[in-house]
Amino acid sequence: MTGMRLIIIGPPGSGKGTISQLFEKDLDFTHFSVGEILREHVQNNDELGHIAQEFINKGELIPDNITINIITTYLRSLEDEKVIIDGFPRNVFQAAFLVENFPIQGIVRVELDDETIIKRLSGRRVCPVCSTSYHITNNPPKHEGVCDNDGHALELRKDDNPEVVKKRLQEYHESQQKLDDIFKTESVPEISLRGDIDIHNKKSILEEINDWLDTLQK
Ligand code: AMP
Repeated sequence: MTGMRLIIIGPPGSGKGTISQLFEKDLDFTHFSVGEILREHVQNNDELGHIAQEFINKGELIPDNITINIITTYLRSLEDEKVIIDGFPRNVFQAAFLVENFPIQGIVRVELDDETIIKRLSGRRVCPVCSTSYHITNNPPKHEGVCDNDGHALELRKDDNPEVVKKRLQEYHESQQKLDDIFKTESVPEISLRGDIDIHNKKSILEEINDWLDTLQK
């Protein structure tokens, strides 16, 4: 099998980015994040960016027709690759769309408790240019406040402020249960990983993931 489609799920700030990096750098997957694509449009100040910004800043989901368009364009162009989809589906409509049009082979579930997440997100800083994510204490850049890759000033995402985070978490927990039910009906295989792994000590987690991927390819 050459192509493979996985989704990565977990509350915002649970460490999906870290786990996705493992898939991208060590396991040859293309990581595709709907939120990141939307933030790029906001950064480019284009028409879609203007629409998306309002929803993103409030921590609300943007309209389905927009995300469905984005996901269709990207997944069509990545049909023969190993792809890990981040941030989609977020509701029942999007899940049904995925099952119908772009079936997935597996689910990577990232777990972390809400209290830890709120602490983590308030210390998160993101490069507005290359989207690399840092943490002021857990994963600081080499020089305070600037991106290691391109030297740009790091920013706190507007939707990482604690009030918006609480709202995003509540929304996540409410909708995730319904999505889990859909994927259970479809018997999609799943792996559960903690999101606060030490990225420098990744050997055992990579073994665990590889063993799981082998079972999917049989
Ligand atoms: P994320 O980076 O995944 O936390 O997404 C940031 C923001 O982008 C979300 O709070 C939503 O406003 C928007 N967004 C990302 N993915 C979706 C999606 N599948 N459907 C609707 N809005 C989304």
